[in-house]
Amino acid sequence: MANDRPNLTGLKSAGAPVISRPSKCDAMATIAAASAEMTPASASQDSWVQAKRNGRLMIALSCKLTSMRTKMLMLRIGRLEGCSAGRFYPIQAKGNFPLTACAEQRKLALKRPHASYVLGTMDTPDTSGRAAGFPGVGALKIRVWRLSDTCLPLRGPASKGDLRDFGFLSTIPGMSTLDPKRTVTELQELRALTTDGSTGGAMRVAWTDTWLRARDWLRETASGLPLEVHNDQAGNTWFTLRGKSEKELLIGGHMDSVPSGGWLDGCLNVLAGLEVLRRINDQYHGQPPVTVRLVDWADEEGARFGRSLLGSSACGGVNFVPDVERVRTDKDGIRLDDALRRCGVNIDEMRASHAEIKNAAAYLELHIEQGPVLESMDLPLGAVLGTFGVERHAIKFTGQAAHSGSTPMDKRRDALAAAAKLALEIRPIAHKYGGVCTMGSVVTKPGIVTAVVGECDATLDQRALSASKLARMYKAAQKASNVFAKEEKCAVSWSRIWNIEPILFNKDLIKMCYDSCVEVSGQPAHKLPSGPLHDAAEVSRAGVPTVMMFVQSLHGISHNPIEDTKIAHIEMSVRALDRLADKTIAWILK
Ligand SMILES: [Zn+2]
Repeated sequence: MANDRPNLTGLKSAGAPVISRPSKCDAMATIAAASAEMTPASASQDSWVQAKRNGRLMIALSCKLTSMRTKMLMLRIGRLEGCSAGRFYPIQAKGNFPLTACAEQRKLALKRPHASYVLGTMDTPDTSGRAAGFPGVGALKIRVWRLSDTCLPLRGPASKGDLRDFGFLSTIPGMSTLDPKRTVTELQELRALTTDGSTGGAMRVAWTDTWLRARDWLRETASGLPLEVHNDQAGNTWFTLRGKSEKELLIGGHMDSVPSGGWLDGCLNVLAGLEVLRRINDQYHGQPPVTVRLVDWADEEGARFGRSLLGSSACGGVNFVPDVERVRTDKDGIRLDDALRRCGVNIDEMRASHAEIKNAAAYLELHIEQGPVLESMDLPLGAVLGTFGVERHAIKFTGQAAHSGSTPMDKRRDALAAAAKLALEIRPIAHKYGGVCTMGSVVTKPGIVTAVVGECDATLDQRALSASKLARMYKAAQKASNVFAKEEKCAVSWSRIWNIEPILFNKDLIKMCYDSCVEVSGQPAHKLPSGPLHDAAEVSRAGVPTVMMFVQSLHGISHNPIEDTKIAHIEMSVRALDRLADKTIAWILK
């Protein structure tokens, strides 16, 4: 039997039988009591039976009886995603089924539970086509993949002969109330609310009035959901949707930005997470199988006091010492602990926020990539393997300051020459170990145009995902600096500024993240490390299974008003995060 290609058919009429919500994340919809509503007339007239709950999710089903001779039942199923604005998407798939094949389908379907079939349990209708003659419709089960609108491969249950005819079911878009367009609208709203008029950049620097306004707006935006909302002792805001299990799925991001920052960094994560919460709330009528929480971390950027990941590190508990932090000051001389107190946070109590993650079973974070890798590969999404470890050192080369006119070239002890050689040598070193190395600052003394450089203070920042490679990269740079110092008749000394070990994300979650990216984008994804640090690193260090998802950044630029991502990619990232949340809930329950 030929399969009908998915097509678009308008909605014809409305009825209102009861239909259950999808009971599982891949949307097993049990159409209950539909038969009660189906008159013979409507059944034979190919009318639509609509089902609707909470004004959001709709599934349409139509049955058409043709002659008993052919024993054909034409069934249409599709999704009507009714937005709150009252828009409806048209039906997107249809097909024909021989009733005689139902028993066989059912057997095969049970063997292959992850394929998409109509499970025919209905009896053959009698010649009159009366509703009583087709009681099975009342127990008809329809299983569909939740696929995104952007991913509609015609995936039949391949190699099963006739069953290929039913493959169209897998093209049915997800019965989801997720509305990624709403996320884009909310991001634009936030941008308008918190943008500096002169630069066009976001001004949500943590512990400032604009940041507080952004957080109030977030609470307001989430207020339609049955969530428990509170700030913890570290100033992180938690939005909790209680589930049947105490185990928690956490989704995180940060509303704060750098001064004159971009419109997506941090807040995309939060607002995408909010949209996923809405969908989960809808799907499970406010009680998902596990507790789902959105967290807005306080002061991820460290833009004002130079201390990144403040709220998440206090919560993670691994890397936070109040006495080290309290004395930091901003450019106006205001102390960190005073600025926090103004926002209701007592620095000595911040570590108590660790209690928030005692039931955390998994942590997910979506983020713009902030780099050029995905764009260069022409891929929208990527799964993040972990965050780079960092070795950060100050390097001092000491030679001899001397007159630029009277000192012959072969008699010089030029500290800059040694530093410059190292600045070039770190490139092959980075390449060899698959990391990145940056000499970000070079200061020379005496630093005048007529003197050979006597002292050169440089900084070296080295990052890699593997701890052993990072260590070897560091050693190689040290060795090279000794060689160059000797060549230039200088001395060299190193002192560590800061270091952090690499954080590797959870293997299972990385795989689920990768799969979600592929399934939603319909393209390959990429697995990549994160160069910048993120709150996810602190959560992972605290022992919570963690993964991040990246969405492509245009031109790889961030922390800048021109930071941008294609709207289609933003929407795709919301869908992919949603899909990952689904997979993660199932994983937590396993
Ligand atoms: Zn960020």
